[in-house]
Amino acid sequence: MNKIKMTTPLVEMDGDEMTRVIWKMIKDILLLPYIDLNTEYYDLGLEKRDETGDQITIDSANATKKYGVAVKCATITPNAQRMEEYTLKEMWKSPNATIRAILDGTVFRAPIIVKGIEPLVSAWKKPIIIARHAYGDVYKAVEDKVTKGDKAELVVTGADGSERRFLIHDFDNTEGIVQGQHNTKASIESFAHACFNFALDVNMDLWFATKDTISKKYHHTFKDIFEEIYEADYDAKFKAAGIEYFYTLIDDAVARVMRSDGGYVWACMNYDGDVMSDMVATAFGSLGMMTSVLVSPSGAYEYEAAHGTVTRHYYKHLKGEETSTNSVATLFAWTGALNKRGELDGNAELCKFAQNLEKATKETIEAGIMTGDLISLSTLTEKKKVNTEGFLLEVGARLKSYMS
Ligand code: NAP
Ligand code: MG
Repeated sequence: MNKIKMTTPLVEMDGDEMTRVIWKMIKDILLLPYIDLNTEYYDLGLEKRDETGDQITIDSANATKKYGVAVKCATITPNAQRMEEYTLKEMWKSPNATIRAILDGTVFRAPIIVKGIEPLVSAWKKPIIIARHAYGDVYKAVEDKVTKGDKAELVVTGADGSERRFLIHDFDNTEGIVQGQHNTKASIESFAHACFNFALDVNMDLWFATKDTISKKYHHTFKDIFEEIYEADYDAKFKAAGIEYFYTLIDDAVARVMRSDGGYVWACMNYDGDVMSDMVATAFGSLGMMTSVLVSPSGAYEYEAAHGTVTRHYYKHLKGEETSTNSVATLFAWTGALNKRGELDGNAELCKFAQNLEKATKETIEAGIMTGDLISLSTLTEKKKVNTEGFLLEVGARLKSYMS
């Protein structure tokens, strides 16, 4: 059989622990037999990051800018315990944060839906993809505890030295707390573009919500920027694609989300996205079934699983014990990246392969063959628990039948 060729390299970011084990299995069992895999390899495993002073993470992000598509394995974000475990030179920053800062991207989190794993919200039939604005607001806030008698004011100093003062609160007979938040027009604009482009890319409606009735300047600015950009750049494209941009208040959005059958991208302000993405992920089932893609305003894509390195399973694996770790989200990171690479290069064969691999994966679970995390969730009457490698071999057998 002739292997599928790739004209442009895909940026491959390897990672840590159980997901690193799965990474190799996916390549060996499912990809290398069919594809002449053309990747530019970056080892983001913690040892290599330490050895290179984290330069490797920066290089991998720059390569993503250059080539446009990356696939990333989960990585350890070091803490005090990891410093000791790996005798690190420094407590390196989260690779995801470093990559996100370089690509200035928005993260979209999407559940993988299969028959038998029903969302806890019974109305949901289609995915709900959450887009979280990853800059500012409460995450970059300045705050203080104030004492009785304090007066809190907001002071804005103009470039010409002029001052505008707003009274926040007079704490004349009580102690209390104050907070100052900000965001930037550039960041909100790039978030809006990322959301509109992504909705077009996946051909789904886009929802956005804020509390503009209460926050008439701060939240309202988010609403206005989205509206202006939509009218100027996306209205015609959305109409042509048959999708809709829908704005409402955040509390109304939450109520509508619960009643909806899914099938849209939900753009969230930073805090809403933090909270809602965990709620939506839990309601859709397992962390092992949640993928994530970082999209930069310049059009670079980085695909990954939403979960971490599954440390507990890795320690079992190291002791020689059998594991049953779900590889689906990592597998879909690969298919997402290969499909996007194929789209950008006009490589229909590569796209077709990625779609077949996704189909083979879903059909394996729908046929009742799954890893331990899904067994207790699946409503199928006949189901069989397989180990980490066993699952990938089952997917491989199905894939083989489509490819021949
Ligand atoms: P985690 O790796 O997501 O795992 C938490 C628990 O969720 C696991 O112990 C397991 O539960 C379950 N789980 C997650 N993914 C699973 C899968 N694919 N199959 C089966 N079960 C799965 O989170 P963590 O243990 O908090 O973090 C571990 C390491 O990952 C940390 O060093 C952290 O820094 C890193 N991390 C990286 C990323 C990233 O690179 N994007 C994201 C998050 C965390 P049971 O043990 O009950 O089976
Ligand atoms: Mg959160």
